[in-house]
Amino acid sequence: MATKNWKLETIAVQGGYDPANGDPRVVPLVQSTTYAYDSAQNVADFFDLKAVGHFYTRISNPTVAAFEAKMTMLESGVGALACASGQAAITYALLNICQAGQHIVATQALYGGTFNLLSQTLPKLGITCTFVDQHAPATEIAAAIQDNTRCLLAESLSNPGTEVLDFDKFTTIAREAGIPLIVDNTFPTPHLCRPIEFGADIVVHSSSKYIDGHATSLGGVIIDGGQFDWTNGKFPEMTEPDPSYHGLSYSESFGNSAYIVKARVQLTRDIGAVLAPMNAWLSNLGLETLHLRMERHSSNTTRLAEWLAADSRIQWVKYPGLKTDANYALAQRYLKGASGVLTFGVQGGIEAGERFMNSLKLARLVVHVADVRTSVLHPASMTHRQLTAAQQMQAGIRPELIRVSVGLEHIDDIIADFDQALSAATKA
Ligand SMILES: *Cc1c(COP(=O)(O)O)cnc(C)c1O
Repeated sequence: MATKNWKLETIAVQGGYDPANGDPRVVPLVQSTTYAYDSAQNVADFFDLKAVGHFYTRISNPTVAAFEAKMTMLESGVGALACASGQAAITYALLNICQAGQHIVATQALYGGTFNLLSQTLPKLGITCTFVDQHAPATEIAAAIQDNTRCLLAESLSNPGTEVLDFDKFTTIAREAGIPLIVDNTFPTPHLCRPIEFGADIVVHSSSKYIDGHATSLGGVIIDGGQFDWTNGKFPEMTEPDPSYHGLSYSESFGNSAYIVKARVQLTRDIGAVLAPMNAWLSNLGLETLHLRMERHSSNTTRLAEWLAADSRIQWVKYPGLKTDANYALAQRYLKGASGVLTFGVQGGIEAGERFMNSLKLARLVVHVADVRTSVLHPASMTHRQLTAAQQMQAGIRPELIRVSVGLEHIDDIIADFDQALSAATKA
């Protein structure tokens, strides 16, 4: 079975599931909420966390566990927790270490849903957030950290702004403050970026995107890097007795897996937004081709970005795989490829942009990103419409910005579609 030496491609295909003699070769779909046992003591031991096994699918399920095991290996973590969606994963990742009266420092260029969570919903629970410009000097970012700050949150490659995280800067700031760095690695996936190897403590994903890769299944996952020292005095919930488990201490009982075990046995137990077995099965199938897809998404997007950059019908194009891009140096340093999303503005602004989107034939207008089919979206009027104009600009969303998720069709066909739609949008 899986050795530490397996390369990412091999893990993507075979990691996380090791069939015994006569078992199904493919991860089986265990569509069952519950599991049968012979003795009452057996089940009591699960409830007391004295034994490990599946007893109710809100806590764990074999198909979901195979997906979690593969994600743990892909990200070089010590454990993972799969959730019902990316938003559920981010919410759990934060609630696991933040409570009323505490504070988060996050980057401004975040997915719209995450921004709303931090700016609207968590404040209602007494958890506040300060947003920082990720390209600001380290001293400025560090100054946002307060005594009650529990973590730094950032995206490795932001959606939709395609800002690349300076991992060295952020891990240094987090270490000096004694707080973990949580990184949303949805856009690069572990194939293009491995945050834990760059010093991140916790990784989260919306697996609804490239991990599933085919736009079939909502899902999210948290991966624990196992390197953060929860016993540094700032995180009593990790070290002090948990009355809901007879006074167990997570750091004492579970060592470097304390964070991810606590998230499962407290948060999914009490809130329950777990990944459905069917969605785990589909996401796992998606992972089997992750490496091939991410390479083609990146090369197709580079080709389209270069073609757009040379076209006089566009105002600007932004993609960290372009040599002229402000994030190019960071992308070279931290990403194996710049992934499949670019943004651009059409000459003629919002109206021309709308005509462009309405004229596309191969690419379709969808509220999704990161699957095999090329798609476009207008964040200012769609995913980020709940933000004010000023908040949109802070998140890097200009009014005319069109987000393109470049699929796996032949690049010549994608470019031909953009060419005809740009002509339709810009002819006088
Ligand atoms: C889509 C997305 C999310 C939210 O994920 P859902 O699965 O839609 O809940 C979070 N972060 C990023 C970067 C995303 O692209």
